[in-house]
Amino acid sequence: VLILGIETSCDETAASVVLRDESGRGIIRSNVVRSQLDEHAAFGGVVPELAARAHVEWLDHIIAQAVDEAGIALADLDAVAATAGPGLIGGVLVGLTTGKALAAALDKPLVAVNHLEGHALTARLTDHVQFPYLMLLVSGGHSQFVLVRGVGEYERWGGTIDDALGEAFDKVAKLLSLGHPGGPAVERAAKAGDPRRFKFPRPLLREARLDFSFSGLKTAVRLQAEALAPLDEQDVNDIAASFQASVTEIVATRSRQALQRFRAELPEAAPQLVVAGGVAANRSIAAALAVVAAETGARLVVPPVALCTDNGAMVAWAGAERLALGAADRLDVAARPRWPLDAPGMKVDDHAA
Ligand code: ATP
Ligand code: MG
Ligand code: FE
Repeated sequence: VLILGIETSCDETAASVVLRDESGRGIIRSNVVRSQLDEHAAFGGVVPELAARAHVEWLDHIIAQAVDEAGIALADLDAVAATAGPGLIGGVLVGLTTGKALAAALDKPLVAVNHLEGHALTARLTDHVQFPYLMLLVSGGHSQFVLVRGVGEYERWGGTIDDALGEAFDKVAKLLSLGHPGGPAVERAAKAGDPRRFKFPRPLLREARLDFSFSGLKTAVRLQAEALAPLDEQDVNDIAASFQASVTEIVATRSRQALQRFRAELPEAAPQLVVAGGVAANRSIAAALAVVAAETGARLVVPPVALCTDNGAMVAWAGAERLALGAADRLDVAARPRWPLDAPGMKVDDHAA
């Protein structure tokens, strides 16, 4: 099937055409993403109302471009998938309503996709990963371990109890005046810094549960920055490097524990760790995960960064996987600002077309 995917849940306006063949392999025919960096730059974070307006302004053009780059006409589509949540509700409504209108006009099925399911299934598009596997999702809005047993079958094993990891990078960048988005800027500064100059805390790390907490770490970084003010360039670099060392150790330790649990609970399965979300772009974290995977005998899958961050192809693919199992959604399906992956109703059977 040829399916259009629409993503508008945060600050990316994105559309993609994906072809899923009978053998279950996916081919990305187009993948157009417009990031709203300029709209939100002055505010140091995403402003929901501005995001929704920008989606309204751009989505039609992005869809037209995606269809055009795929070398097809709208009428060639077999289905339409759109993110129905979780996310900023104004933006979700723009994308979902557009998806509904297209599906109705084309008389083709609509799949209302959980954005997190898009992240969770991307590795099957890029790397043909087989179920089950463990996903570590680390983005601007989410940080969690999810056991992916199958399409629509997810178990949340742990996650952040306060800030998301990408959010922590963004906040540290802001207080070091490194700009937005913060992740790449902090990583750049950290390269020139001394990761041992400051010993920042590793919150929760002594506890056995698979949870994260980053807000205390962020406060420790702020207090250190205030104590040193005014900061020179070396101070900024050293703080960035020490912060990155701290979160790298946290993520690596938790991932080791999660893979040990995977081995214990699924002794028959080959252990696999799939990383998703924008923070997957971080070289320090990715390198540490590679070490953990090697130690625990697990396969590590890190899809290309453009498919780890928010995009339309992941939505199209999740839609195609659901549709292949007979799931579709009614045109009155609701947008959901909050929608955990293990919420009731994720199972494909609940959506039989
Ligand atoms: P959601 O959480 O809804 O998936 P998002 O747009 O916030 O959406 P992504 O687009 O997946 O998340 O990723 C953006 C986040 O990734 C930002 O917080 C950004 O700072 C972080 N990030 C990007 N590159 C890096 C990097 N090299 N190192 C650390 N963090 C990074
Ligand atoms: Mg984003
Ligand atoms: Fe996302």
